[in-house]
Amino acid sequence: TVTKFKRLFIPGPVDVAKDVLEKMATPMISHRGKDATALQQGIGEKLKQVFHTQHTILLSTTSGTGLMEAAIRSCTAKKAVVFSIGAFGDRWAELGTCNNVPTDKVRVDDGEPTLPDTVEKALATGQYDLVTVTHNETSSGVMNHLEELAPVIRKYPEVVWCVDAVSSMAGAKIEVDRLGIDVCITSTQKCLALPPGMSICSVSAKAVERAKTVKHRGYYLDLLQLYQYVTEKEHQYPSTPSLSHMFALDYQLDKILQEGLENRYARHREMAQFVRGWGKEHFALLARPGYESDTLTVIKNTRGINVGDLNKKLGERGFQIANGYGKLKEKAFRIAHMGEVSVADLKVLLGHIDEILKGR
Ligand SMILES: *Cc1c(COP(=O)(O)O)cnc(C)c1O
Repeated sequence: TVTKFKRLFIPGPVDVAKDVLEKMATPMISHRGKDATALQQGIGEKLKQVFHTQHTILLSTTSGTGLMEAAIRSCTAKKAVVFSIGAFGDRWAELGTCNNVPTDKVRVDDGEPTLPDTVEKALATGQYDLVTVTHNETSSGVMNHLEELAPVIRKYPEVVWCVDAVSSMAGAKIEVDRLGIDVCITSTQKCLALPPGMSICSVSAKAVERAKTVKHRGYYLDLLQLYQYVTEKEHQYPSTPSLSHMFALDYQLDKILQEGLENRYARHREMAQFVRGWGKEHFALLARPGYESDTLTVIKNTRGINVGDLNKKLGERGFQIANGYGKLKEKAFRIAHMGEVSVADLKVLLGHIDEILKGR
């Protein structure tokens, strides 16, 4: 049992609005009935707006990692190249290797972005038919410039481009079709502000055609089978999806579209600027200038504070931030500003951190 619920400023799961949470308690329906079809179709249409795409939208009852695994396994015929800028890029390379997909990893230091020249150099070798890019690396707080990478990747028509937008979709603008992204992946518990348990992706015709040439795509995470069910079999799923998430997602998407996507992006940017300002004044940022994330800020622990202790004291006041991820534990800390939070909420949070650090 949870002894005390805190306001979450961790990069997922994020706080879910009460009315959205309540939609998870909607009574069950058959996942093979007309209502299930209508639910799936409605969600798909709304998500197309969020993804800025005409591509088919697929849901998977897995967290984001599920569709990352599905994408690299289902859509690599020759060899994949993973451009990793941190722990979540590393994960994608591991997913490839674990699935017996020939995978190379190009890794830069934490805080650095993926640069067009790096991508060009790798693709020019002609070895690869799938690339993965992390849009927003949640371990380092770096947001890659997809618009600079797109023209390079576009030069290689055999390449299927997969993007991990798990911690940025619906918090930052990602124009899937304009950029030419083939598989763009997110999950529910980050900027979409829903409970964890579902992942979402868009799939291009190119990605679908590629999957048809790949023999062993697994079963539960077979992107082609998912696609065929959603497009051909009454817009349903091969196995029973989390209908509870779908009810909440459908409702939350209405709220997101009501806020307005541009307003939502602007709110995230404004929150980011505010937290960055604080971070630079009191510490330093991990991300290279110009590549700071709009959905979370990773602050270098330049003052050698005890991050665990800070978080414990924040917890007593009803707030929670995140320590550095993996090897960055205690070397950095992370403040998420994604989902339904506001600048006013962050002012309160940073006010508490200021007080704690001053020993008050
Ligand atoms: C959270 C996160 C993941 C993993 O998603 P899950 O939903 O936890 O499986 C992958 N990539 C990034 C960038 C993330 O922030």
